[in-house]
Amino acid sequence: MKRIYLDNAASSRLDDDVLKAMLPYFTEMYAIPSSQFSHQDGIEVNDAIEDARDAVADYLHVKSSEIIFTSGETESNNLAIKGYARANASKGKHLITATSEHRSVLNTFKVLEKEGFKVTYIEVDEYGHITPEDVKAALREDTILISIALVNHEVGTIQPLKEISGQLEDYQAVLHSNLTYGAGYLSLDMGDLGLSLASLSTDKTNGPKGAGVVFIKDKLKINRLFEGNFNEGYIRPGMVNVPAVMGLAASVKMFQNNSGDIERIGKLRDRMIEKLLKMENTVLNGPAVERVANNVNISFFRAEGESIALHLDMKGISVVTGSACFSQSLEPNYVMMAMGFSHERAHGSIRATLSKYTTEDDIDRAVDAMSEVVQKLRDISPIK
Ligand SMILES: *Cc1c(COP(=O)(O)O)cnc(C)c1O
Repeated sequence: MKRIYLDNAASSRLDDDVLKAMLPYFTEMYAIPSSQFSHQDGIEVNDAIEDARDAVADYLHVKSSEIIFTSGETESNNLAIKGYARANASKGKHLITATSEHRSVLNTFKVLEKEGFKVTYIEVDEYGHITPEDVKAALREDTILISIALVNHEVGTIQPLKEISGQLEDYQAVLHSNLTYGAGYLSLDMGDLGLSLASLSTDKTNGPKGAGVVFIKDKLKINRLFEGNFNEGYIRPGMVNVPAVMGLAASVKMFQNNSGDIERIGKLRDRMIEKLLKMENTVLNGPAVERVANNVNISFFRAEGESIALHLDMKGISVVTGSACFSQSLEPNYVMMAMGFSHERAHGSIRATLSKYTTEDDIDRAVDAMSEVVQKLRDISPIK
């Protein structure tokens, strides 16, 4: 039987047209863009990369010169956050982020703390929201950078970036955002959101792995992370993953008319949530509104997320749990803990993330399997 893949926030199936856009750059156009000064092969590939840059700039409503290609979201977050903080340390050493951010952001801030920066970690509410008021209260004269993801990666909370950036007028601080969970689902206009720095990859939305983008607003100073041959200007040395960058550009072009897909995915998400909440002792994690279209995150009390996920896997359904053993540590998922959940609620949580390839039949089969598994586990549970 066909497996039902509901872990698209971790990795997703490549779109066929995106694959088609990538293929020539493996076997036909394999020169590197910086060879443009040496030969025709380099010129052709460089032109293609510049077209890709234009497509990404168009998607984000910025200038092509403000777009840098990297190896993925992790590198983009490191480059934007470390690069900006280090280059602007003379203006102040205070930074702001939130306790619910992705590890590629949190661990970057941890390194900056060791370098002498002070970081304020804003706490999220029980739905994962970061409020503009909390950001305002954390702002100081010496704050230089704030980093808040557009969408929380576990529970799909959409953050009010526009309202947050709207209160920065009297401060020198600039706003950075991890846009990866949100790309393909929300409109990304950097001017409208008030972002000066942003990171993006499309591998969670049917784009390729191994390519990322950093948007750096004109004239902002950034220190590079690596030394080497200059390919992406002076900011990002090292080989550009040409096929992946071509795929990333093809995927952002595809996002520009996918409103039908988003609407359909949102309806399937609602169908799944509605059906699951009919079960006893079941709660939705994350907000009911202002939630990204493909995210379902549910806690089943009196059932272990770990057991649920294992049983579902045996039934051919791929989901993840916020339970401890799956996160390679003894603590339950840190986002759940940041939201103030009890251990039981965090341990019993299941995240299902949909894609444009998810069908109504997939959802109905997944829901049936979940109710069956949870019922069975509760029947044998010693806790009543
Ligand atoms: C996947 C993901 C990352 C890490 O991205 P890579 O491209 O794997 O480095 C960071 N943030 C979010 C929200 C993600 O979904």
